[in-house]
Amino acid sequence: MEAIEVTLIPGDGIGVETSAAMQRVVEASGAPIAWIVAPAGEACIAEHGTPLPPATLDAVRRTGVAIKGPIATPVAGGFRSVNVALRKELDLFTCLRPVSSLPGAGGRYDNVDLVIVRENSEDLYAGIEFERGSEGARRLRELVEAEGAGRIRADAGISIKPLSEFGSRRIVRAAFEHALAQGRSKVTAVHKANIMKHSDGLFLTAAREVAAEYEGRIAFDERIVDAFCMNLVIDPAQFDVVVFPNLYGDIASDLAAGLVGGLGLAPGANIGESCAVFEPVHGSAPDIAGRDLANPTAQILSAAMMLDHVGQHESAAVIREAVRRVYAAGTCVTGDIRKAQGSSAPAASCSQFTDELVRMVSSLRS
Ligand code: NAD
Repeated sequence: MEAIEVTLIPGDGIGVETSAAMQRVVEASGAPIAWIVAPAGEACIAEHGTPLPPATLDAVRRTGVAIKGPIATPVAGGFRSVNVALRKELDLFTCLRPVSSLPGAGGRYDNVDLVIVRENSEDLYAGIEFERGSEGARRLRELVEAEGAGRIRADAGISIKPLSEFGSRRIVRAAFEHALAQGRSKVTAVHKANIMKHSDGLFLTAAREVAAEYEGRIAFDERIVDAFCMNLVIDPAQFDVVVFPNLYGDIASDLAAGLVGGLGLAPGANIGESCAVFEPVHGSAPDIAGRDLANPTAQILSAAMMLDHVGQHESAAVIREAVRRVYAAGTCVTGDIRKAQGSSAPAASCSQFTDELVRMVSSLRS
């Protein structure tokens, strides 16, 4: 079988460890993947002058599919997020984040099975910002006041929240198409249209219009974001596919992951018209990086999504089943899961967990 080229961006911090673990598990699954390793992140700045070298972007464009580890972003200053740049450059407008209960993983619920569909290109994440005291911020303040739209304090920094009809329609359509393709039955749109009438209001109107095209096939429901959060925590089983503008989707992803055992388990995909980049929801976890403590499950489940995307369904299914069995057995789980379980039983290292998973994948294949 001809090998399928996949760009691998190992990333920063625990990304190095979780990417290596992921490669071992994918190789054990027998999927014919040829890894094209491409760097990104802070370490690239010295050599390439940018945290996202053009050759890395070219590799993703050429292979059309990539899997990455997390990449650190400096807080309040420094370079802009490489993750956001990658999503923007490649127009990866759909972010898919399935969240499911995994028996043995210490989740608070055993009946969660939902998919977060997050818009990936607009909203407060668009990176349109004006620094406090800048000429741009001053002119914008003047414009806002001249338009009678309100007053902004002179010492304010400003971030802009654009939501377009185009962007809203295409993400809601992606959510409905995902629901159809996966045999799911309901899409819930989450918004704050009661307050942000011209951004979230527009998103909600677009969602209602797109939903009407799927009437009779997929049910539609809408929730205000704060009420959604409470309902998600009280009864997550009521949600199926949930579609969000960018920022709410980001926050809800971690909230939902917390209900089923934590970030160590949460996979994701960023999908555009011509490229797809798979990555765990979690960040580079500097607090545990380089100590063989990370849980690689999120990145391994991201790889299973990637394998489905490239048509390697059998390998994807074997990996998911192996993960399910290792957690169900309960003896070899990492420290984050022991914490979620409230258990003082010994925790496995990242390498020990990966060894166990590789053994399970191999035994399922034999
Ligand atoms: P984080 O997700 O890195 O860590 C939050 C907490 O969860 C930490 O206590 C960490 O130890 C734990 N954790 C996360 N993943 C884990 C895993 N696989 N196994 C065990 N424990 C895990 O979030 P943060 O600390 O806010 O961010 C750290 C850096 O990562 C920042 O620079 C941020 O910008 C970046 N980040 C990158 C991405 C991405 O690349 N897509 C996503 C989120 C954050």
